[in-house]
Amino acid sequence: MRRREFAKFAAVGAIGAVAAPAVARAQTTFNWKMTSFYGPNAAFYSTGPGSAKDLISRIEAMSNGRLKIQFYGAGELIPAAEGFDAVSSGTVEMNYANSYFWTGKSFAAQYFTAVPFGLNFQGFNGWYYDGGGAQLWREVYDRFNLVPILCGNTGVQMTGWFRKEIKTVDDFKGVKMRIPGLAGRVYRELGVDARLIAPGEIFPNLERGVIDAAEFVGPFLDRQLGLHKVAKYYYTTGWHEMATASELIVNKAAWNKLPNDLKAIVENACAACNVISEAWCQKNNAEAMEDLVKNQGIIAQPLPDDVVKALRVATDRILAEAVAKDPVTKKVHTSYMAYKAKYDAWADLSEAVYHNKIRRA
Ligand code: CA
Repeated sequence: MRRREFAKFAAVGAIGAVAAPAVARAQTTFNWKMTSFYGPNAAFYSTGPGSAKDLISRIEAMSNGRLKIQFYGAGELIPAAEGFDAVSSGTVEMNYANSYFWTGKSFAAQYFTAVPFGLNFQGFNGWYYDGGGAQLWREVYDRFNLVPILCGNTGVQMTGWFRKEIKTVDDFKGVKMRIPGLAGRVYRELGVDARLIAPGEIFPNLERGVIDAAEFVGPFLDRQLGLHKVAKYYYTTGWHEMATASELIVNKAAWNKLPNDLKAIVENACAACNVISEAWCQKNNAEAMEDLVKNQGIIAQPLPDDVVKALRVATDRILAEAVAKDPVTKKVHTSYMAYKAKYDAWADLSEAVYHNKIRRA
């Protein structure tokens, strides 16, 4: 017994001696900067469970302070839209945003945030973690010297706020709406005057009648902007963003300098924040929607079926054009849609049965 313990001790000592340089390297402290597309105190994105600041404190705690990250909200170090280039060039090591802000760099970036009529939270996680999504995202961003990691999700977003009721597709004609990105292009095909407006400017524009409709996120964050005070019709489940993923990008050279344990800590903190942020949204949206319907007099309803169908047709046409133009988009689209076909068939026999039958029994 004693001899065995001595042998064990000797072995540990030997390993310790051999491993000394690795230990020294592992104890290097890294001081990084993280910028963000969102303001320094933006709920969900910058503060609260699963946000950028929560992600940073988890990384610092798990690494015992070996990876320290200074956070800068939009405008504090660089403007919101410059995060991609700043990390790509190495000016900062990390940026927090959504990949669909970077479709000007590669249209394929759209698929790593949300695609209209695309996957929900569960489906997107399946594609990202197990269906090749994470590898494709890294492949798409590699030529920009970026390592992307999924780090959050709003869950299902809402179609948005309208001053007037939408009964048919014709009611979209001439409507001035705050709606960014690909969804904006789809609405434009149906006669909407789609506009890009920063979150802080949505309420004053809707209040003054500069716009007639607006999309932001979901009940909790929309109520925080006050949108329910100036538009009565709240169209529910967002055809355009079934689940909206948050993105952490890391400069590739900086990433490659991290020891494996710190890489694992960053990846696992991101996975934790992905789940925790979405859970926060579910809880807060449930409470906010109840308040909006019961106490604030808003009318929450889905878009009529033929309107949804028209949006679907326009979406499919725009995606087909993008796929035909760009081989990278084609590769990502093919992977995403193949996964979605399998997920949808499974969801029809599982989640859909839960929502339509089991929980109503
Ligand atoms: Ca949105």
